Amino acid sequence: MIILVINSGSSSLKYQVREGDDVLAEGLVERIGEAEVPDHAAALDRVDREVAEALGERTIDAVGHRVVHGGERFSEPVLIDNEITRAIERLNPLAPLHNPAAVTGIRAITEKWPDLPQVAVFDTAFHRTLPERAWRYAVPDELYRKHGIRRYGFHGTSHAYVARGAAELLGTDAFTGVIAHLGNGASVAAVRDGESIDTSMGFTPLEGLVMGTRSGDIDPSILLFLLREGYSEKDLDTLLNRNSGLKGLTGTNDMRSVSESADSGDERAKLAVEVASYRLAKYVGGYHVAVGGAEALVFTAGIGENAADFRAAVVSKLGALGLELDESLNAERSKHARVISTPSSAFPVLVVPTDEEAAIAEATAAVVAGS
Ligand code: ADP
Repeated sequence: MIILVINSGSSSLKYQVREGDDVLAEGLVERIGEAEVPDHAAALDRVDREVAEALGERTIDAVGHRVVHGGERFSEPVLIDNEITRAIERLNPLAPLHNPAAVTGIRAITEKWPDLPQVAVFDTAFHRTLPERAWRYAVPDELYRKHGIRRYGFHGTSHAYVARGAAELLGTDAFTGVIAHLGNGASVAAVRDGESIDTSMGFTPLEGLVMGTRSGDIDPSILLFLLREGYSEKDLDTLLNRNSGLKGLTGTNDMRSVSESADSGDERAKLAVEVASYRLAKYVGGYHVAVGGAEALVFTAGIGENAADFRAAVVSKLGALGLELDESLNAERSKHARVISTPSSAFPVLVVPTDEEAAIAEATAAVVAGS
């Protein structure tokens, strides 16, 4: 089955065409809304041309959309129809930057290729198994009932894919352990018997770890303080989502530059690595308890897969759990799932590369085949 995977942003559209593990075409259309690409329909026309060139006589069988927010309704991928599209649209207030773009992408495809099956794959879905004690914030119930304020969690497609990969590497049926997805956005998931039971991102992807440009956990009173100091809602949004995290601490959001600066003795960069790795180590300790004893700690995504020194900074803080990295295995570069701890480590530390497009394509093929 040939699947077109679409990740619609408000001004960009990323796509990949896959047949099983083979990537037949991929690309990125940027600056949607400007003169050359006035809207998502125009972006799709461009994708159509590029895809047709790559596929020749063959055609796409189905489309899989990455949808950031599935709210409380969606716990798995679904075949899209008008009702589903409206349901995704109703979740717009919960993900104002992401869901409207996905809806626009879905409608543009419905218009262009009305007979093509489309599947929505949700970033929140994997975390629908969180127990209430993990998803509840300790605020009045009214906030949950009226506004849906609770922990949803994100990066679910990646966490689920990596949990399956880790189980395969460990030779177990279902994964129990802690997964650290460390990209520009970053989150940890506590997984027991293959199900997510806690995760560090919350109502939005802002909570939890120190990220490229996001602060992660802070005292909410800081916002009240800054409001009284004259900051606007927009200032606070920009401050915490775009100008914090590694960028706030060092001036750059790119872990590669932060690592290089830290290596050459830059004090601010060294501190940023310490703040970020300490925060993550605390989560790993907590989630080790949450899952009732992890069978492995897994690193994934850009930083998790590539930044050996950051992994070392995290694991060096987890000596109390008995974790120990093998320095040379940790330093090895590879695209494959692998163990990077010593045989005497209390439980293995793994690197399992993520592939969200592969996961979306797999899920799409499964939904279409089953429909
Ligand atoms: P996104 O969330 O945008 O998908 P990625 O998963 O691609 O992000 O991760 C991006 C992060 O990975 C950046 O901080 C980048 O610096 C970091 N990264 C990528 N390669 C390396 C590397 N070799 N060493 C250190 N960090 C790396």
